[in-house]
Amino acid sequence: MKSVQENCGIFGICSSADCVEDIYQGIDFLQHRGQEYCGMATFDGKIHQITHYGKVGNTFPGPELRILTGTKGIGHVSLRERQPVMWQSRMGEISVAFSGNIINAGELIEGMKDRGHAFYRSYNVEVIAKIIIEAGDIVSGIGDLSRKIIGAYSLVVLTQEGIYATRDVYGYRPLILGKDANRYAVSSESRALHNLEMDVVRDVRPGEIVLVQNKGFQTLQQLASARKAHCAFEWAYTASIDSIIDGLFVQEARNNLGQSLAQRDIEEGGLDADIVAPVPMSGIGHALGYHKRSGVNYQDVFLYNRYADRSYTQSTQNAREKMAKRKLSVLRYAVENRRIALCDDSIVRGTQILHKVRDLKRAGAKEVHVRIACPPLMYPCDFGISTRSYEELAARQFFRSGDITSLPQLQELEVWMANQIGADSVKYNSIDQFVKALGIPKGDLCLKCWDGIRPGTEAS
Ligand code: SF4
Repeated sequence: MKSVQENCGIFGICSSADCVEDIYQGIDFLQHRGQEYCGMATFDGKIHQITHYGKVGNTFPGPELRILTGTKGIGHVSLRERQPVMWQSRMGEISVAFSGNIINAGELIEGMKDRGHAFYRSYNVEVIAKIIIEAGDIVSGIGDLSRKIIGAYSLVVLTQEGIYATRDVYGYRPLILGKDANRYAVSSESRALHNLEMDVVRDVRPGEIVLVQNKGFQTLQQLASARKAHCAFEWAYTASIDSIIDGLFVQEARNNLGQSLAQRDIEEGGLDADIVAPVPMSGIGHALGYHKRSGVNYQDVFLYNRYADRSYTQSTQNAREKMAKRKLSVLRYAVENRRIALCDDSIVRGTQILHKVRDLKRAGAKEVHVRIACPPLMYPCDFGISTRSYEELAARQFFRSGDITSLPQLQELEVWMANQIGADSVKYNSIDQFVKALGIPKGDLCLKCWDGIRPGTEAS
């Protein structure tokens, strides 16, 4: 079985009052993490659960929200899987929602089928729920997940006792706790907590099992973690700019990555640009950082269509390209006769940035110099951020094998990439510049997209 990969967001809350509106708002503020499916489950003595195809704001009518009663509940937004999923078990009813990807799901499913389990659709969430149910209690089940699963997951399990929340022992996917006088919550990103006017308490630690109840948080167990491996792509692209993840503001990270790009230009003789501009939305923080370090004027050159969905979270390439076209239109007045430093987070296939460069030149831009915050993407992600394969990665088409280990190799790729996308120049942050700009120890990050090393498999 090909493992299902997905990008998604989870939320859970225990309150002294009915919580459905809070869950609704919580997952609405995580919508950028996945827009194909959404769902909620609440507990009021029994679990009520509803999932939908589509976005939170469009798919939950008022009467349906009134079915979801209770003072505790969980929610989910997703690119690929309908969640939460509810199970009857000897522990009572449980509802499970997770974010991540199980690399060895096929193997685990075959083993469980041999032990008599049936699978509805062989979704990753079924594997997780069945491992927990087989263990007989939630904490032991989560311990079993850490031993059996190869992959990444952040997880919430709704039960009659409260919400169990955990991150895998590497902490790939973010998960953060928040509270106010009457509510205790857990979320993929802090923005959902802040927008519910709650205080952020702290990140869930890798391997930590937390019970969330309406009287507080309780760490039930801390599983051993050999090292951290936070997904570095969260700060460069995935997370919202108003979130803080593992102690680092996303906006600060993007500003630093943009400053690093400007620093490289300064060290290599400077760039004669009239303006620096972002590819919205994720390029904004990078462009502001570039502006701050270089002194080049910041100027928007694209108008963002707020009614279009995020192209990266569309599930097919065709849908992504159509959405990318709908998403941005050129502000011609800002562009004519200008030399533009254009900042974006990453180049995957190269088709979207090619269209952007072409649109700017058609609108009269004199030069377009592309500046990319992430190093060249050389390896597909195994951990649930996208469905990229080697064939989809533009940089891999140039460097068919091996890694980019020197500045001359990076520069060779940059010249090739500029030709491919019709830009006057392209520059990336190298892996070392990228890590330095984030300011997080290299050993605490997953950099597998760039260096090909799956955390935990490093040679000792
Ligand atoms: S492989 Fe890349 S996208 Fe996937 S978890 Fe690691 S850094 Fe993030």
